[in-house]
Amino acid sequence: MSISLAGKTFVIMGVANKRSIAWGIARSLDQSGARLIFTYAGERFEKSVRDLVATLDGNHELVLPCDVTSDEDVAKCFETIKEQVGTIHGLAHCIAFAKTEELAGDFSDTSRDGFLLAQNISSYSLTIISKYAKPLMTEGGSIVALTYIGGERVMPNYNVMGVAKASLEMSVRYLAADLGKHGIRVNAISSGPIRTLSAKGISDFNTILHEIEEKSPLRRNTTPEEVGDTAVFLFSEMSRGITGETLHVDSGYHVL
Ligand code: NAD
Repeated sequence: MSISLAGKTFVIMGVANKRSIAWGIARSLDQSGARLIFTYAGERFEKSVRDLVATLDGNHELVLPCDVTSDEDVAKCFETIKEQVGTIHGLAHCIAFAKTEELAGDFSDTSRDGFLLAQNISSYSLTIISKYAKPLMTEGGSIVALTYIGGERVMPNYNVMGVAKASLEMSVRYLAADLGKHGIRVNAISSGPIRTLSAKGISDFNTILHEIEEKSPLRRNTTPEEVGDTAVFLFSEMSRGITGETLHVDSGYHVL
């Protein structure tokens, strides 16, 4: 795609493997000429993230640990970015987690722990990350989070994650209202279902994919590349008038 982000720096949070939507965003940003910084959740992801990053065209050296459940980890991560890079122009938040047992059966059976865990990792993390990213966005910036239609309406088995996504989408609006005066835009991409590590946890995921293929206006499933290219648009000046928005990249399924 043709948008150039050469000379700009973006933080990508949430690459686990080559199927990750974050990796789709990374590839699109790499093609746009941007400089990238990657963060990963724990030691077990470090090697796979470093190996993947080495396959990109650009030379993206900074790969840092950041467990978003730890305030210290988040603070340290952005401190390192400040020391080593200085200014950043955008950030992709591609992070979510819920216990597998909470992604099936009745929502009314959700445990307190499971509810709070999903909110902590999948929603609150955007707020604390924005807090630490803000001082580094000295030339303005664009923050993009990933959400799903299960945050707007009831989708089978999405349960506790749907409630976390509703909270994430509202956080996007509150953060947009806060950070706009600093020239920072905050938006969400509502992606159609994509087979990733996280999606594996959702019961009956294949049925959801088939439904999109059969019923969505475009009659096909969403690809990480489509989400990646939309993220590049949201990171670029082309979208400079857009903030607080949830943009659906889901073959039009949301209109049904
Ligand atoms: P994924 O499993 O590849 O990515 C999820 C990421 O969250 C992983 O990299 C994981 O390490 C990270 N993570 C979990 N706990 C963390 C923690 N404590 N600290 C830091 N990182 C942590 O799956 P994905 O589907 O690419 O998910 C990325 C985003 O896209 C999520 O927000 C997800 O809800 C959203 N999304 C996914 C789909 C889908 O169908 N796959 C659809 C819409 C939205």
